[in-house]
Amino acid sequence: MEPLYKPQGVEERWQRTWEEEGLYEADPDSSRESFAIAHPPPNVTGDLHLGHALQLSLADTIVRTRRMQGFNVLFQPGYDHAGISTQNAVEKHLASEGKTRHDLGREAFEARVWEWLHEYGGKIMIQFRRIGASLDYRRERFTMDDDYVRAVMHFFVHLWRRGWIYRANRIVNWCTFHRTSLSDLEVAHEDVDDALTYVRYPFADGDGHVTIATARPATILADVAVAVHPEDERYREAVGREVVVPFVGRRVPVIADERVERGFGSGSLKVTPGHDPLDYEIGRDHGLPELTVIGLDGRMNEWAGELAGLSQAEAEERVLAWLKEHDQLEKRESHRHTVALCDRCKTRIEPLISLQWWCAMDELKRPALEALRSGRVRFHPESQHRFAIDSLENAPDWNISRQIWWGHQLPLWECPDGHVTVTEPEPEPESCGVCGSRELTRSTDVLDTWFSSALWPFATLGWPDDTPDLRAFYPGDMNTTARDIIRLWENRMIFAGLEVMGDVPFKDVVIHSLVHAPSGGRMSKSLGTGMNPIAQIDAHGADATRYGLMKMASSQDVSFSEGAIEEGRKLANKLWNVSRLILQASEGAVPDERPATLEEHWILARLSSTQRAYEQHLEAFDFSHLVVDLYRLTFDDFCDWYAEAVKQRLYDGDADARATALAALERLLKLLHPAMPHVTEEIWSYLPARDSRLIVAPWPEVGDETRAAVLDAVKEAAAIFRRSGVLPRLEVEEQRIFDAVVKPERAKANGSADAELTRLRSEVERGERMLANERFVANAKPEVVEVEREKLARYRRELDALERV
Ligand SMILES: [Zn+2]
Ligand SMILES: [Zn+2]
Repeated sequence: MEPLYKPQGVEERWQRTWEEEGLYEADPDSSRESFAIAHPPPNVTGDLHLGHALQLSLADTIVRTRRMQGFNVLFQPGYDHAGISTQNAVEKHLASEGKTRHDLGREAFEARVWEWLHEYGGKIMIQFRRIGASLDYRRERFTMDDDYVRAVMHFFVHLWRRGWIYRANRIVNWCTFHRTSLSDLEVAHEDVDDALTYVRYPFADGDGHVTIATARPATILADVAVAVHPEDERYREAVGREVVVPFVGRRVPVIADERVERGFGSGSLKVTPGHDPLDYEIGRDHGLPELTVIGLDGRMNEWAGELAGLSQAEAEERVLAWLKEHDQLEKRESHRHTVALCDRCKTRIEPLISLQWWCAMDELKRPALEALRSGRVRFHPESQHRFAIDSLENAPDWNISRQIWWGHQLPLWECPDGHVTVTEPEPEPESCGVCGSRELTRSTDVLDTWFSSALWPFATLGWPDDTPDLRAFYPGDMNTTARDIIRLWENRMIFAGLEVMGDVPFKDVVIHSLVHAPSGGRMSKSLGTGMNPIAQIDAHGADATRYGLMKMASSQDVSFSEGAIEEGRKLANKLWNVSRLILQASEGAVPDERPATLEEHWILARLSSTQRAYEQHLEAFDFSHLVVDLYRLTFDDFCDWYAEAVKQRLYDGDADARATALAALERLLKLLHPAMPHVTEEIWSYLPARDSRLIVAPWPEVGDETRAAVLDAVKEAAAIFRRSGVLPRLEVEEQRIFDAVVKPERAKANGSADAELTRLRSEVERGERMLANERFVANAKPEVVEVEREKLARYRRELDALERV
């Protein structure tokens, strides 16, 4: 073994070896119990970001543990076609050639996307390998594969036959650049400075007026009412009368509605259902007409009369001029407010009423709600479980159509009479299902990207066909993701799985934390605060990165800490050094547990109790405590105390000590492998008498009674010792724990447990005082402060360990 451990080179070698030897492979014909995770498919054009790296670290730690525990593991990889974001990337590329997608036409554009994907897409799976994710890469799936497309079409036709897909005019978020509707979650928000214009609407039947305030004067042309709050005294007399809309001269009613904010502007609201989501709701409730004066291109449309064809800014100028001329412009003031932007192109969202396809949710969501309420699917932490239920209860009908070009085209044809024919597109229908007309035109809309994502857990296994994979690996076990896609994805996988497979796709959903920039703000490439996980892997290794990310993982959002990754690297180095010591001092021995001394019983008991804690943390998806426990076991118990205590007997050639040391090391490597797979597999390869790779080595058995008995004896002795401060019964044992565990490190300590506890307590106090001294922390060299911090942490651990032995 090299004196120093360098992850570079070693990690890549093991990643290749595991994959080449087929150790990541799932076997549908195995008789072993299966454990399956369909990993969230990243965007095909994506790059590994910290969220992916965290997700993979968590999921892979579980997957590797289950594999060692003997499960037939499927860790399913693949890509999402990511409709609008891929289209956007290709359009940017085209723009650099001075072209738009309209210059190419739909077919040529799609061909261009494929070409572009072959060149730039799919690289992220190489990055998945670099973090050591043990996905079955042979099974890579893409949501635009022929088989996957067939599954999507089948699902659409299924929902259609159920009668749940319908077409309706509703207000949607419209991007005038992409010319498509967007879900609320594809919309970004930004504060901008605008003007608020106060406009007088004269009463139609005599004197006086109502003043409204608007940030968008050009939409006045589509006003259908003025609304005031029912309890607003100022407007008591106005309700029920009519006012005249400026510029167009239309008479509209003044209505009362509780959704009007009395404190905003003048307290009365112009109601424009065609161009504002709130007005749309008010309009539907009051049975008001829906006029639109802005078209899909964001310009004034033919209903804008003489303003047709103008941009909104030009139209606004014309409206303002008219208002001034007619003395109906009361005032303008500056106005800071939040506007919605297309997340991809940053164009201002135009709320527009548009004819879209919808999926009715009432019946589809009912079994999913039942599964969530009864805990058949459980989100972790609990707060996210409640959020998942709430958001499904309140889920409105799903807008499934998009007007972009890259995606799954709806399997829906219309005849000249407007009859709709829906069928799987292979082969395409020849005639209208209603009137038999042979003039059929396929809808040009594509499906919302999440429509296909909802099928991920079973479409990747061959659904709608009945396949061995589907029988072996559905339902799966868990899914891990960030909370922002609970509504978009998790809930939809649950209702889709229940609807077509008759069972939930997984039992547990782990919602991991979001990792923020060290300064606390949102991570973002454009702000220069994005943390590139590949750079961390290059610098510290994949094992260290996995360890650090898991240490940061909690249900709370956390700030990125490179220190946690460095700690992972130190752990790998420490493990390497102790392994080297044991292996060199135990030449010729084979691993065999033959504990003779108390420190040997003790370390085996510690390995068992840490393993039990590990298994419990894994059940609770508490990865942060899981790695902290591993750190203490390795750094403190194994390296500092046990190895120090047993070292001399190894050098002296004690055969039992050597065999036991190798056996203890073997168990330590097994416990560490799922979190830190590479360094452990590398050390494992130096152990004598190997008959398998560590990745598939059997997980240790715990619960052995002898070991538990030793642990109890140790605990009992420690408890007596703590209560009395003297050594009554078991004193020999007690003294020996102390000698074995503490003394070698503390040769100059005076040999009394009490004195050692006192000494450690005073060291902790001293360290705490020093670090609380702001002058010291501000003025000392950072390395010096860091050394003090480490010393303090170490004294605390030793004190804690001695108190809990
Ligand atoms: Zn856009
Ligand atoms: Zn027809």
